[in-house]
Amino acid sequence: MRQIAAALEIPLDLKWQQAAALQDARDFLMGSPLILNDDRFFSSDSTQRDIARRLYAEVRSLPIISPHGHTDPQWFADNKPFSNPSALLIIPDHYVYRMLYSQGVTLESLGIARLDGGKVEQDPRKIWRLFAQHWFLFRGTPTQMWFSHVFHEVFKIRERLTTESADRIYDQIAELLTQPGYLPRALFDGFNIEVMSTTESPLDSLQHHQKLRASDWKGRIVTTYRPDPVVDPEFPAFSQNVLRLGELTGENTEKWQGYLRALFNRRKFFASLGATATDHGHSSAITCDLSPADSETLLQKGLTGTITRDEAQQFRGQMLTEMAKMSIEDGLVMQIHPGSFRNHNPAVFSGFGLDKGADIPARTDYVHNLKPLLDQFGNDRRLSIILFTLDESTYSRELAPLAGHYPVLKLGPAWWFYDSPEGMRFFRERTTETAGFYNTVGFNDDTRAFPSIPARHDVARRVDCAFLARLVAEHRLDEDEAQEVAIDLAYRLAKKAYKL
Ligand SMILES: [Zn+2]
Repeated sequence: MRQIAAALEIPLDLKWQQAAALQDARDFLMGSPLILNDDRFFSSDSTQRDIARRLYAEVRSLPIISPHGHTDPQWFADNKPFSNPSALLIIPDHYVYRMLYSQGVTLESLGIARLDGGKVEQDPRKIWRLFAQHWFLFRGTPTQMWFSHVFHEVFKIRERLTTESADRIYDQIAELLTQPGYLPRALFDGFNIEVMSTTESPLDSLQHHQKLRASDWKGRIVTTYRPDPVVDPEFPAFSQNVLRLGELTGENTEKWQGYLRALFNRRKFFASLGATATDHGHSSAITCDLSPADSETLLQKGLTGTITRDEAQQFRGQMLTEMAKMSIEDGLVMQIHPGSFRNHNPAVFSGFGLDKGADIPARTDYVHNLKPLLDQFGNDRRLSIILFTLDESTYSRELAPLAGHYPVLKLGPAWWFYDSPEGMRFFRERTTETAGFYNTVGFNDDTRAFPSIPARHDVARRVDCAFLARLVAEHRLDEDEAQEVAIDLAYRLAKKAYKL
């Protein structure tokens, strides 16, 4: 049966309705078709669903604004074909391997490079088969929703991933990746991305961004200034990083004033290549207001490796305040991404390094911790700070009241573990009544998995439309206003908040 179905060619001259019917029949015969229902994430209540469909129709084709993410600018600078399905879809995606790791699959078998150069799986097809064998683990997770979208919409796959279909799907993706339409820039254009941000350290030369600027391609990719490696004394190789910062800028970064000038100098360089924002991934939202002399002492301790945990916390806190001062001068929007206990698993960290799915959310306080910064700059309209959280309990108790009052504060979207239908819904439910929609900033995909960008934005658009549809159905908002809000959430707010 399957061979017959697979051999069933769909003539190109059919009307689309006939072609679609034939396609459905073929999928049915294939056994386990991959279906993307057009009402996904909408309510099953027909009143709400009808409103959500109308709202979504207004936003589904809007260009994508991707103001925060972690794709590799080199992909677009060089525009070489992606090497294989596993390197594209599995290896950069720590959502994937954290789940597999939790079920006993080793990172080596997934081809994740070891820091000691030890042996790891090199055959991308074997990695793909292992992934397919464990695909059922993702049932009900956003990863399954994103992958289904990527398979269906980007790679035109019409059957579910199983151990049996793994090779066929691998071959189809591998074949498509050799075609011009699947080069990084062509995909970017095809995804209808208006602008996308990557994230770089102040130590980065930004050579790929420079190459992009010099090219004749019209795609807009900008960098974001992420100074964690040079402002966090607990970051690996902090003191070497600070010395390197000195070399790059010609400043004496072993002294507090020279260190600050060097950081400001790199911000200017980033802004010259399109950066409109900074990003800060601190473990807490602590901010400080220390004297220059105390800051100097902490810097010296950081550089000599004699800083205590508490002092490191204070130093990071002072650096958030310093970054806010610099933002008032140069206009870069600040993003604070606190509350991740990074590298929770020491064995994974020592074997494989950062960003390997071992980051765990921790309880986060904003009301007390942000006060030193807000006391100084909370009312300064030249400054804009976008707050994120991994602590959902703070949405209605701390974040919405703060953002619903201080002019400098806005709320970033549901982030990371909450970048999911339930997480987004909960975010709107807990923040809208106090902060409204206009103290939020639209959606961030925050991803390393480039092909999933349209999928992620589509989920956000659908969930927001479903939320708005409920307000309309309950007569809490008129539909024409909901329509305007839907467009703001999908497109206009991100552009405005990030000055893109
Ligand atoms: Zn990020």
